[in-house]
Amino acid sequence: MTDLTRLSLAAAAKGLKSKSFSSKELTSAYLSAIEAANPALNAYVAVTHDTALAMAEASDARIAAGNAGVIEGVPLGIKDLFGTRGTHTQAASHILDGFKPEYESTVTANLWRDGAVMLGKLNMDEFAMGSSNETSHYGPVVNPWRATGSDAALVPGGSSGGSAAAVSAWLCAGATATDTGGSIRQPAAFTGTVGIKPTYGRCSRWGVVAFASSLDQAGPIARTVEDTAIMLRSMSGFDPKDSTSVDLTVPDFAAAVERGVKGLTIGIPREYRMDGMPEEIVKLWEHGIAWLKAEGASVRDISLPHTKYALPAYYIVAPAEASSNLARYDGVKYGLRVSGKDITDLYELTRAAGFGREVKRRIMIGTYVLSAGYYDAYYVKAQKVRTLIKRDFELAFNDGIDAILTPATPSAAFVIGDETLAADPVKMYLNDVFTVTVNMAGLPGIAVPAGKDSAGLPLGLQLIGRPFDEETLFAAGRVIERSAGIHFEPETWWR
Ligand code: GLN
Repeated sequence: MTDLTRLSLAAAAKGLKSKSFSSKELTSAYLSAIEAANPALNAYVAVTHDTALAMAEASDARIAAGNAGVIEGVPLGIKDLFGTRGTHTQAASHILDGFKPEYESTVTANLWRDGAVMLGKLNMDEFAMGSSNETSHYGPVVNPWRATGSDAALVPGGSSGGSAAAVSAWLCAGATATDTGGSIRQPAAFTGTVGIKPTYGRCSRWGVVAFASSLDQAGPIARTVEDTAIMLRSMSGFDPKDSTSVDLTVPDFAAAVERGVKGLTIGIPREYRMDGMPEEIVKLWEHGIAWLKAEGASVRDISLPHTKYALPAYYIVAPAEASSNLARYDGVKYGLRVSGKDITDLYELTRAAGFGREVKRRIMIGTYVLSAGYYDAYYVKAQKVRTLIKRDFELAFNDGIDAILTPATPSAAFVIGDETLAADPVKMYLNDVFTVTVNMAGLPGIAVPAGKDSAGLPLGLQLIGRPFDEETLFAAGRVIERSAGIHFEPETWWR
């Protein structure tokens, strides 16, 4: 029998429905793959073995009874940021030690409603702050990909590094992820997987641990464009429990995947052509342009003049919101508690022991930019810049642009423990240069694997769409995926 874990999510869903194999068989295959790979990759922080098998059996019963949901019996990995009832939910932080929520996030509840099976919780940067998955309390995730001729351990990107690594290494059929400044798209690009951050408001944030609430969005990472379309449909939808959730019908995203790009106008923003951009990224971008043209799109240069301010503005807005959101972790009601001589001492000792370095850095920056005297100079100014960034995109879309093509990241995956990055956090923040603009403007963005660098590592392209037009991204993303024509399959050195 072929290895069931290698099936796409779409093929797995079909095979389950036609009873070619059972969910129990498929789920068991994934559980064995996780057991063999996790010591090397560290993608899962909790494997919910018994729950997975029980959910799989329930799925098999529904399939037998003719009651199958759209992704009935499909095994998924869930980023540790999503609240899952009675199950490990720690945002990969020490401060949430032992936390098992009483509630289920709306996104995961939607997936279970449609029949999905939970394999476990996925590693990530602590509180989703990072671009390399090195800030996790559980240690770094190892990218399944290695450079040709090297066995150096590479980062899978972050913050959804566990999600991207698990998908890439066939440790789940698809994974949930979140993206505040690039955390779905950058790890997807680093692992040869597909990731989409939908429009702000498309997926409910209810029950997802908050990082920067005005930027956070959930989305899927999977192995094909079609798979992400299927997953996103299940994850999306109006939720009265999230006041920023938008009451719009969720389209059948998968139906848009083969729609093609004929007649579309694709914008190429000149400000994304950064100084010193590696030749390989420039080439990749040119290939993408040629592929879209060959399939009938017209391509036009555009200008997004405020792009250069996006990163500094993001690193004010995101920490500001984080410093407020993370004020709730104080050791009183749940998670880690370090006792002190009085309540203030308890707060301070708990927070000092519970938060990692990067999280503390963000809290300090956020508190600083919100403090009296600095609020107008930093926070208010960053919000104004944000409006200008959003307007850049609006002008382009009003001028007939249907989608925008850019590189997903400025480089391929780098080594774990890179000292130049550890010494200079701003260098690490530069990873987000092509992705944060999209969060600042609330737009949808997809990363699709499109080529490899000279060391054989995956590289991705990003497509940015109009608000609530994820369908065009799936259609154009599929053209990139098909034209690249590469199977992004790492060597299985980990088992
Ligand atoms: N790398 C960015 C940061 O560290 C984005 C994180 C994210 O999207 N969650 O803030």
